[in-house]
Amino acid sequence: MEPIRVRFAPSPTGYLHVGGARTALYNWLFARRERGVFVLRIEDTDVDRSRPELAQAILDSLKWLGLHWDEGPYFQSQRLDRYRAVAARLEDAGAAYPCFCSADELQQKRERAAAEHRAWKYDGHCRNLSDADRARQRAEGRASALRFRVPESGATSFDDQVFGSIKLAHSDLEDFVLLRSDGNPTYHLSVVVDDLDMKITHVIRGADHISNTPKQILLFQALDAAVPNFAHLPLILGPDRQRLSKRHGATSVSAYQEQGILPEALVNFLALLGWTPPNQKELLSLEEMVEMFSIEAVSKSNAVFDTEKLAWMNSEYLRHLPLSRLLPLIQRELESAGLWQTAFADKEREKFEKSVTLLQSRARNLKDFSGFGRAFFTDHFEYDPEAVKKFWKDPVLADLLEALAQRLEKLLPFDLESTEKCLRSLAEEKGVKAGVLINGARVALTGQAVAPGLFEVMTTLGQDAVVNRLHRAARFLTEQTAPHSVSPVDSH
Ligand code: GLU
Repeated sequence: MEPIRVRFAPSPTGYLHVGGARTALYNWLFARRERGVFVLRIEDTDVDRSRPELAQAILDSLKWLGLHWDEGPYFQSQRLDRYRAVAARLEDAGAAYPCFCSADELQQKRERAAAEHRAWKYDGHCRNLSDADRARQRAEGRASALRFRVPESGATSFDDQVFGSIKLAHSDLEDFVLLRSDGNPTYHLSVVVDDLDMKITHVIRGADHISNTPKQILLFQALDAAVPNFAHLPLILGPDRQRLSKRHGATSVSAYQEQGILPEALVNFLALLGWTPPNQKELLSLEEMVEMFSIEAVSKSNAVFDTEKLAWMNSEYLRHLPLSRLLPLIQRELESAGLWQTAFADKEREKFEKSVTLLQSRARNLKDFSGFGRAFFTDHFEYDPEAVKKFWKDPVLADLLEALAQRLEKLLPFDLESTEKCLRSLAEEKGVKAGVLINGARVALTGQAVAPGLFEVMTTLGQDAVVNRLHRAARFLTEQTAPHSVSPVDSH
């Protein structure tokens, strides 16, 4: 049996879109599952819109997702001679013919058709020119494109592995262009030549390409080549059931990377956009996906991109990520937020690791470590106004936090048990509920209303930081209630 060969063929006219990433993933899963070959091909023949840095960005995103390719990347822009040679072969065989109609002439015909409410397709003006006609036009210096000669009658059909049997009458097709008058190949020509040369056995791509498939099959046949299998993947929609676009938020893989999404979470999420594993599970490792993936289980119904679900998946992955993998990611996050300190790598290594572990179960993404977790890595943090409103209402809090600071300053040892005992006995003495002091202190230490358990926070931050922050909060509260008083010590 021929080995299975699939390809992912992005055009470098934008960043890797999540839809493209899903296509790449399904190709990759299928190749791994079938022990086949995953080819990467960059379709950069559109010189006006393709950009090398975007090709690089696409490669970077694929690597970040862990979708490594076995062959390539091949660049279509380096294969132009090959497409021209195949075009010449098709012309020699009579399967294609030169078309001398200028862009202006075609535009006029198109406009006339629109004015008369007729559907326009190329009218075959140059289809049956005699050799003499062609020679005359060439002698006049008229440039020509090359068009494929679509059979006049009959139909082309194929059995799509997702969408089932699809048939298109040739009368609904026009003689499409293979080579433009500047000698550049169109998508249809280059994709077929490449799929043939690269011995692609299965074309797995977005459903937006279904209407292109009959034309490409006609080309394969004209080249006496075996037609590959086709599997088109359902469209991806936003929550409003319109095609996913920028209107719905981030659409590129790199944007999700920047939002602090983990690649394994995004891969898992994308895998389920159109595919349901036989065990119906939602959280799947890459190994499980490879083991269970099949094109037959891909649905043709449109898939909805639910960012809430992605956020949930990400927090699940984050929670279970081994510390050895999480720590370097957090280092990078803190570096980019300007919060990384070299001490985290040596003297304060333990504190750093404890902080990350404490935040791990509460973070939804990597950004949260520099966001709501900021106070674990720097003294420079703000009090969340909502937290202040909720937990710093009571006017006695300034005195309470100051008293707590003074007691904690002398506490020895400073551990989970002793800090809790200290706080609770203070609350009892002052006749307030322990919760009032716990919530008030949490805001003082983290700036947040919701954070890990207070005594874990205290032991992680350490005695000095805790005491300083409680003093600072007491001062802040005193200034708030007596706006004209001047704080003797600078707050952070
Ligand atoms: N370059 C095409 C695209 O980005 C893919 C073509 C194909 O998969 O056949 O949509």
